[in-house]
Amino acid sequence: MIVIMDEGATELQVQSVIDRMMEKEFTVHRSTGRIHTVLGGVGPEDEIDPVEFEVMDGVKECRRIVSPYKLASRHFRPGGTVVRVGNVEIGGPRVVMMAGPCSVESREQIQLSAKLVAKAGASVLRAGAFKPRSSPYSFQGLGEQGLELMREAADANGLLVISEVMDSTQIPLLARFADILQVGARNMQNFSLLRELGKLRKPILLKRGIAATIEELLLSAEYILSGGNYDVILCERGIRTFESATRNTMDLSAIPVVKKLSHLPIVADPSHGTGRRDHVIPMARAAVAAGADGLLVEVHPDPDRALSDGAQSLRPEQLNELMEQLRIIAPAVGRAMAG
Ligand code: PEP
Ligand code: MN
Repeated sequence: MIVIMDEGATELQVQSVIDRMMEKEFTVHRSTGRIHTVLGGVGPEDEIDPVEFEVMDGVKECRRIVSPYKLASRHFRPGGTVVRVGNVEIGGPRVVMMAGPCSVESREQIQLSAKLVAKAGASVLRAGAFKPRSSPYSFQGLGEQGLELMREAADANGLLVISEVMDSTQIPLLARFADILQVGARNMQNFSLLRELGKLRKPILLKRGIAATIEELLLSAEYILSGGNYDVILCERGIRTFESATRNTMDLSAIPVVKKLSHLPIVADPSHGTGRRDHVIPMARAAVAAGADGLLVEVHPDPDRALSDGAQSLRPEQLNELMEQLRIIAPAVGRAMAG
C-alpha cells in the first residue's frame, strides 16, 4: 500500500500517518520526493480500506499496490531513483559508463585498465576479484588482493569501483574496497545474500538472472529495498533462450519495461549480453537509445590474453570509439554522457 501525502503536508501529519500505518502492522518505508512524501507500507493491505487513510489530514491519496513487489514499484517513487556515489549519479540525466576487465589479473593489468577506462571518459572501474566461473577449474579471481589492486588503480585515475560479491561472508571486504557491490546473474535469487545486502548502506548493482523474468528481477530488488537499502541499480545482461548465435539473448525491451514498472535505475551489460566483442558496440548503442541509465562493459588492455571473457572484451580503442558514438546518441534521446 502507498500513501501519497499532500504537497504541503506537515511533518506532524506525515508522522501521524506513519503511526497509524504501524498500528495496523505495516512496515513503513518513507520516500521524500521533490513534491510529495510517499509512504510505502508493507503489511496486511488486503485487510485495509484505503479510505481510512485518505480521510486523514495531509493525505492526498492512498492506494493498494497490486504488483507482488511494492518498494520496487514505480508508484513508490514516481519521479525515479537517482543513486548517488561520490560525484556520480546513476538514474539522472547523464548516462554512466562502467568499464573494465572481467577479472583483476595483476597490478599491471588493472593499472593499464584503469588508465584506459578513465581516458575514455568512463566513471566507474569494473572488475571481478571473486569470480563465479562455470567450471571450478577456471581462474577464480585474486580475492582480497584483487580488490586492493583495483582500489589502488581506481584511486590513481579518479574512478569509482564496482566489484562482485558472491556470498554474505564477503560483504565486509567488498564494502571496504568497492563503491558499488555487484550481485551476479547466478546470485540474483540468493535470497540470504540479498537480505544481508539490504542491511548495507552502499549501492548494489543487481544483475538479472540467466533465466529470470523481469518480475523476478524486481522481486529480488525488493529483498534489498525491504531491508532499507534503497540504492539499487538493476542490470540487464542477457537471458538464456533457444538462440545460440550469441552467448545470451540481450533483452533490450527489459529497459523500457523496467522503466515503466519500477523507479530503479537500469544499466545494460552488452558484454555478457552478447558474448562477442563485435556485437558489444551495436548493443551498447541500442541500450542507450532504449533509455539505459548506464552501461557495464568489459574492456581489456590485451583481450587476447585475458584470463576470463577475452572474446567479449573490447580492445582499448574500441571503448574510445564507443564513447564517441554514445556522445552523439545520448543527446538524441534527451540524455548526455557523464564524464
Ligand atoms: C561479470 O560481470 O563479470 C559477471 C560474472 O557477470 P554475470 O553475473 O552477468 O554473468
Ligand atoms: Mn565477465
